[in-house]
Amino acid sequence: MAVTYRACKECSAVTEETTCLICGNPTSREWQGYVIIVDHTKSEIARRMGLEVNGKFALRVR
Ligand SMILES: [Zn+2]
Repeated sequence: MAVTYRACKECSAVTEETTCLICGNPTSREWQGYVIIVDHTKSEIARRMGLEVNGKFALRVR
């Protein structure tokens, strides 16, 4: 069975779970694009998205 990736509606973290491992909010299957943050302290995107952890994040979650 193929893995369906989901993205958190609150913090945009990409996960396989139905609830976000970072903030505990529900995740959605409707999302587009993603960025991988390896060092949030140096990432312009992370700063703009308000991310304070490293990981994979969706650019747009519906
Ligand atoms: Zn989250």
